[in-house]
Amino acid sequence: MLTRTDRIQKDLETLATYTATPGHGVTRSSYSKEDTMAKEYLIHEMEKLHLNIYQDGVGTIFGRREGSQKDAPVVMFGSHYDSVVNGGAFDGAAGTVAALEVMRILTEENFQNDYPLELIVMNAEEGATFGPSTGVTNSRAMVGTLTMDELKTVKNRFGQTKLEAMVAYGLKPDLESCIRKPGSIKNFVELHVEQGPVLDQAQVEIGLIQYLAGIGRYTIRFHGQTADSTAPMSTRKDALVAAAAFVKEFDAQIKALGPDVTGMVGKLDITPNSNQFVPEYVEGKIEIRTFQKEITETTDFHQLIQNILDEVSYTYGIPCELEEIRRIRYPNPTGPSVMNAENVEKMKSICDHLGYSYLEINNGTGHDSMIMTDFCDTNMIYVPSRNHGVSHCPEEWTDYESIKKGADVLLCLIKDLAKKEK
Ligand SMILES: [Zn+2]
Repeated sequence: MLTRTDRIQKDLETLATYTATPGHGVTRSSYSKEDTMAKEYLIHEMEKLHLNIYQDGVGTIFGRREGSQKDAPVVMFGSHYDSVVNGGAFDGAAGTVAALEVMRILTEENFQNDYPLELIVMNAEEGATFGPSTGVTNSRAMVGTLTMDELKTVKNRFGQTKLEAMVAYGLKPDLESCIRKPGSIKNFVELHVEQGPVLDQAQVEIGLIQYLAGIGRYTIRFHGQTADSTAPMSTRKDALVAAAAFVKEFDAQIKALGPDVTGMVGKLDITPNSNQFVPEYVEGKIEIRTFQKEITETTDFHQLIQNILDEVSYTYGIPCELEEIRRIRYPNPTGPSVMNAENVEKMKSICDHLGYSYLEINNGTGHDSMIMTDFCDTNMIYVPSRNHGVSHCPEEWTDYESIKKGADVLLCLIKDLAKKEK
């Protein structure tokens, strides 16, 4: 008989075969042929558990196990199974498989849940597939922030819009039907590999997420004039000198805001980027991370950046531009996504009971859970990533035993959340 760890390994190894790049990691893009194969496998496994399986208007798969309370809000758990190009076999798949394993155990134990339970299987989490800020599609559909406008405009590497890709996949996209009523989801719980080195280095088995930092992204442009390296200093319009002044002042102003926010210009592209010529044009990318909601309410970051650019533009006589890279219907930067603290405490007790070491942890970026925190009580469980936490590459690795331990914690939490409070 297969152990829980064996079953998790089998599921993950099977999913890993649904790749467009055999021998070069897992490439399972949203709405691709490999997506269809993985979906069919997962549905087949879910059918064995006598779940009520249904799909919403963007292709999210749900496996519902009714509870004694018929119309009560649902306890939902799961993750995504799509991947980046030449990604790894774990990322979202680990959480999807862990959630499937939890459903299997509930079936085997003939567990009596009061609240209905739903296994959620998502296929469009990766932002890289259709470009920045286009990921976490399935969860945005549920909370009602996904727009038809996005589906019609963003394109994948084959030049297909998201809508075209969905139609080719066999969907009739219907955003209205995806939207969940406020209050209709009691909990959303996701297990994910850490995608960072913290748990592995500390040799800790379980990460309990308190919050995921909010994020803001911007592009800045400096339009100078190129000239030969002999051009007199007084006549120059050096775009890099202006950009450098911006970087210094931006750093100072972010520091002055205190520990609730970080920010930097992490990327600069210089044209012509030559030792012989005065830089004509510089494009920079800003990333801001927030750790307290208040900071997004008390600080207008767009204005802060614009003011520095205006000052730089005036001082150096160089036109500057600011462009926001934002998710439609979300502020930029977003505030942090805060997990349910009471359930974090519950999971600490669960870990103690199971004899698993744990750490409260706040690293990581975009997950579907991030979208769900404003909609319902949300929690995340991390399991350790090996190889220094590398992810989105073939070297991505999490031990099957680690995923099993995470699934144990998920199982205990789901059992607790599924029971009507006395
Ligand atoms: Zn993921």
